[in-house]
Amino acid sequence: MSVTTSTYENFVGGEWVGAVEGGTMEVLNPATGETVAEVPRGTQADVDRAVEAAKKALPEWLDSTPAERAEVLLKLADVIDDNAEELAQLESLNVGKPLAVSRAEPPVMSDNLRFFAGAARVLEGRSTGEYMRGYTSWIRREPLGIVGGIAPWNYPLMMAVWKFAPALAAGNVQVLKPSEQTPLSTLRFMQLAQEVLPPGVMNVITGDGEPVGAGIVRHPDVRLVSLTGDIATGKEVARAAADTLKRVHLELGGKAPVLVFDDADPAAVAESVRLAGFWNSGQDCTAASRIVAGPGIYDKLLEELVPAVESLQVGDPSESEEIEMGPVISQAQQERVLGFLDRAKSATVLTGGGTNGDRGFFVKPTVVVDVGQEDEIVQREVFGPVVTVQRFADDDQAIAWANDVPYGLAASVWTRDVGRALNAARKLQFGTVWINDHIPLVSEMPHGGYKQSGYGKDLSMYSLEDYTQIKHVMAKVD
Ligand code: NAD
Repeated sequence: MSVTTSTYENFVGGEWVGAVEGGTMEVLNPATGETVAEVPRGTQADVDRAVEAAKKALPEWLDSTPAERAEVLLKLADVIDDNAEELAQLESLNVGKPLAVSRAEPPVMSDNLRFFAGAARVLEGRSTGEYMRGYTSWIRREPLGIVGGIAPWNYPLMMAVWKFAPALAAGNVQVLKPSEQTPLSTLRFMQLAQEVLPPGVMNVITGDGEPVGAGIVRHPDVRLVSLTGDIATGKEVARAAADTLKRVHLELGGKAPVLVFDDADPAAVAESVRLAGFWNSGQDCTAASRIVAGPGIYDKLLEELVPAVESLQVGDPSESEEIEMGPVISQAQQERVLGFLDRAKSATVLTGGGTNGDRGFFVKPTVVVDVGQEDEIVQREVFGPVVTVQRFADDDQAIAWANDVPYGLAASVWTRDVGRALNAARKLQFGTVWINDHIPLVSEMPHGGYKQSGYGKDLSMYSLEDYTQIKHVMAKVD
């Protein structure tokens, strides 16, 4: 199937436009390192133009009813379903995802959109009442107005959906910046969806973090910025947002522990880590990257895990549908991942540990042992196909090690003992805890961090509420 790989423009006020200052930037296929498209290189002027377009669209969108907004979101869900194969192919080309991975995403995105279409119609509030004699008080839950969205490169269109679906459902209009490395699926989706959206309700502008992302954060008329990205970027965004006291919604990195107690099933853990540690080349904020295993299961687990990881089919996704793992996103990311392995001096690499040929940006699926809790490779997000395995002495140490990282996005617990599982789920400082699995998400339940993994939730009613503000109206009634 052929994919549109030519020149793309920005989507502003319902029109396709080049960058105000005329610049363009190249977009690569990470499996080959070749240029596959050109997109506008935005500047502050593009942000200003997009905010103006959003401002024009806002009054009419504010007047829309939840049912009318739901109708738009349901049509957007259909656009995804009707074009699922093309969007999956494009994501595979631009992110280097195997088709099995990229084909899994459109059904999730359309389900997310349908959830927010329904959720828009059932927002709840406290009851209206007389809290002072002679007065009636009631609560209005209102949209914020113009909200900014800044997306990462690992799930480009899905992360965009997680931002614009709740924002639009709640009655906001949006200016969205995809990652400079992977903007194609979001731009193509806008081409496919442009008839569905009233002009200016959603605007997409491409370019680097500075000036485009930072420009959205700086803009005084933008009331909230939602970022999915690195912790360092989250801190910069939060600092910059302070100047205009705009709200920030931060979905940042992770370093998910896989807590394996001695009574767990080692084959089930290995099978799950084969998927959840290496899905999308480990470039997943919830990746099962850090196994903490009990003394009685450690050896059995490695006997299962190493051959399971070695059985992964790695290569250029365009060459075969059998490929299970592609490259990482860029040469810089490849060097970053290999740098973690170089610096882990005491570590033993049981499998993987290098590049996979010299074409494209590959790192072999890697399993590392003999690492200490304080080691960089245990403490920091690698964001590549690398899983560490540590052996804990007792349950208290297991929980302590699992929690002893700056991140708090997701964790999993593996045991057949219900009490042990629930105790661990209570004590783990992570926004999601899975029991006897790792990675599934659903539209109805929140996804978001504890600690430096950020604040604000994606998915669920909690996310919809994040895109609203609360007003108290108090009327003198006699
Ligand atoms: P990144 O932080 O480098 O970039 C994310 C986005 O922020 C990009 O669009 C980038 O252009 C923009 N940006 C960069 N500097 C900026 C600035 N100063 N102001 C405003 N915007 C700026 O992250 P990435 O490398 O694209 O994505 C990988 C990171 O995202 C990982 O840390 C991963 O864990 C995280 N992530 C988190 C979740 C989650 O739900 N918590 C999901 C996916 C990815």
